[in-house]
Amino acid sequence: MARVFNFSAGPGTLPEAVLKRAAEELLDYQGSGMSVMEMSHRSSWYERIQQKAESDLREIMNIPSNYKVLFLQGGAHLQFSMVPLNLIKNGKADYLVTGVWGKKAYQEGKKYVNARVVASSEDSKFSYVPKIDKAQLQEDADYFHITTNNTVYGTRLRDKDIVCLDNVPLVADMSSNILSEVYDVSKFGLIYAGSQKNMGPAGVTVVIIREDLVREIDPTVPTMLQYKIHADNSSLYNTPPCYSIYMCGLVFEWIKEQGGVAAIQKINEEKAQLLYDCIDASSLFKGTVEKYDRSLMNVNFVTGSEELDKKFVREAEARGLVNLKGYRTVGGMRASIYNAMPIEGVKALVEFMQDFERLNG
Ligand SMILES: *Cc1c(COP(=O)(O)O)cnc(C)c1O
Repeated sequence: MARVFNFSAGPGTLPEAVLKRAAEELLDYQGSGMSVMEMSHRSSWYERIQQKAESDLREIMNIPSNYKVLFLQGGAHLQFSMVPLNLIKNGKADYLVTGVWGKKAYQEGKKYVNARVVASSEDSKFSYVPKIDKAQLQEDADYFHITTNNTVYGTRLRDKDIVCLDNVPLVADMSSNILSEVYDVSKFGLIYAGSQKNMGPAGVTVVIIREDLVREIDPTVPTMLQYKIHADNSSLYNTPPCYSIYMCGLVFEWIKEQGGVAAIQKINEEKAQLLYDCIDASSLFKGTVEKYDRSLMNVNFVTGSEELDKKFVREAEARGLVNLKGYRTVGGMRASIYNAMPIEGVKALVEFMQDFERLNG
């Protein structure tokens, strides 16, 4: 069996230990005589799986008890509309637009609320994260929406640089860096993340929402789009994506075994540093974003020649370093080094970059 180092931006690589465990339990989950895929979502077997996943997530993210954890479907994309549909009060919202996804969230939000862009870095191709100016934020906004990691461009917003108002719920799309570094959940009103970058296979969207924001809303909003319905039914209003939730649960256990999110963050910083140091020492490769804002998860770089970029991606693949092509509208290279990418994978990539430069620089 030859596993490659998979730098895919999403769905991304999963910890090998988790895949092995899932394989062991595939046909007969812990003596139940069946696969988790075949279980009733109302069975006590499955109930325990979902409860354990939730309690482990609460533990590793240090989620306060006045927050609900929901396992939903529809991806981060559906949250672009569920957030405004459920949080609307005054009909106003602020958005920090720092990349493709933040812009999409804003555009979708506009359908339901008077959405305003607080700051955007689009005019410089999202190469940095604009500072948040408190004076620009509206006191009467229903929420302030941010993206903590910009998957496409490779920038991030650190926990300590988040500025928000006390009385306006802070909403964060954490799809591509949840569980990769420590964020203080208590400062957020709502956090959402698709599972397929840092938590498990595709199919689940985790929503962490402060209880006061879970409320009765306009009854004409489709039932499935109401947080309260899912919260009141412990995410079992309808059939949840059971197997994906089970897999996320295994990943949460794996994170605990690694020492938790703070320990993973240290490793992630080390991994990212190896790559950025290689880029900075190179005369062939160039980073594409402001150094301070560099993402720990998605590392973008270019050679300056489209032809060489293509050659790089092709030759890397031949070495078992796959999915390094940049986002379709951005070009160049992007190495996604999520939690599950072992440091050996990053070292192998750095070694290849150095060899490539010697031969092509
Ligand atoms: C991948 C991604 C999305 C889109 O997620 P889907 O699950 O495909 O809807 C949204 N936001 C961010 C930050 C992402 O990385």
